[in-house]
Amino acid sequence: MSILANKTVLITGGSRGIGKAIVQTAMQEGANVVFTYINSAEEAEALVNNLAAEYPDQRCVAKQCDVSDTDAMDKLVKGLISEFKQVDALVNNAGITRDSVLARMNRDQWDAVINTNLGSMFNATKPLVLQMVKQKGGAIVNISSVVGVYGTTGQTNYAAAKAGMIGFTKALSAEIAPHNIRVNAVAPGYIYTDMMSILDQDTLEYVKSRISMRRLGTVDDVAPLVCFLLSEKATYITGQVFQVDGGITL
Ligand code: NDP
Repeated sequence: MSILANKTVLITGGSRGIGKAIVQTAMQEGANVVFTYINSAEEAEALVNNLAAEYPDQRCVAKQCDVSDTDAMDKLVKGLISEFKQVDALVNNAGITRDSVLARMNRDQWDAVINTNLGSMFNATKPLVLQMVKQKGGAIVNISSVVGVYGTTGQTNYAAAKAGMIGFTKALSAEIAPHNIRVNAVAPGYIYTDMMSILDQDTLEYVKSRISMRRLGTVDDVAPLVCFLLSEKATYITGQVFQVDGGITL
């Protein structure tokens, strides 16, 4: 039995990288999936077409929507509720980096990272939580980062946002557990995606030397755990942070 059969899942930032792997795994596990993107219209369309061909009895829908825009996300979530009637799960995945040491960081770099990675949690989660309370159940997974746990140089904005996601996860999980809604965070280590492709070879070798398993992660190291946490296999797990990092020592 597929673990997400008949569930409808909203995934932010599903056009590339980790979010795309979560979209694919959720479909493989029987879900109907709605995912968002901001720029990658062609990638999103190709993904929808491929998945529609592979899983003709399930729905996969892509929506362009900026996760940092509160009104646009509110409208998107309300539209999904009216279209699908029930939205069972949410993955807050969309994220960006704008790296700089703090002394050189400008306000735009700070705001972009905080609004996209952390502000988006409020924007996507709030309108859906009201619906999940009415449904008497739901599951949310927030994609944080090991950087939110340990910190690292050049990423004060990103570390603050990712640590904020962990605080949000713990506070919200306590708040809504009585309504049978679970909230967990997954904190990946270094996973090879477009986000990592900005690192030069020397930096990549240094990063690998700090990982006990001596390799970067892949998107498929992350997506199955996320889908497990969304499923009814995980009904007694809430408020937790799961590191998927090959044994990192930052
Ligand atoms: P990618 O850069 O590969 O993909 C980012 C995704 O987020 C894309 O789908 C992108 O859409 C979407 N996105 C970005 N900004 C917005 C926005 N304003 N509104 C809507 N969608 C947006 O990133 P990864 O897959 O590497 O990262 C995914 C998540 O995992 C992020 O939260 C990241 O912080 C986190 N993470 C990643 C790690 C890694 O090593 N890769 C490690 C730890 C955490 P579009 O394609 O349209 O640009």
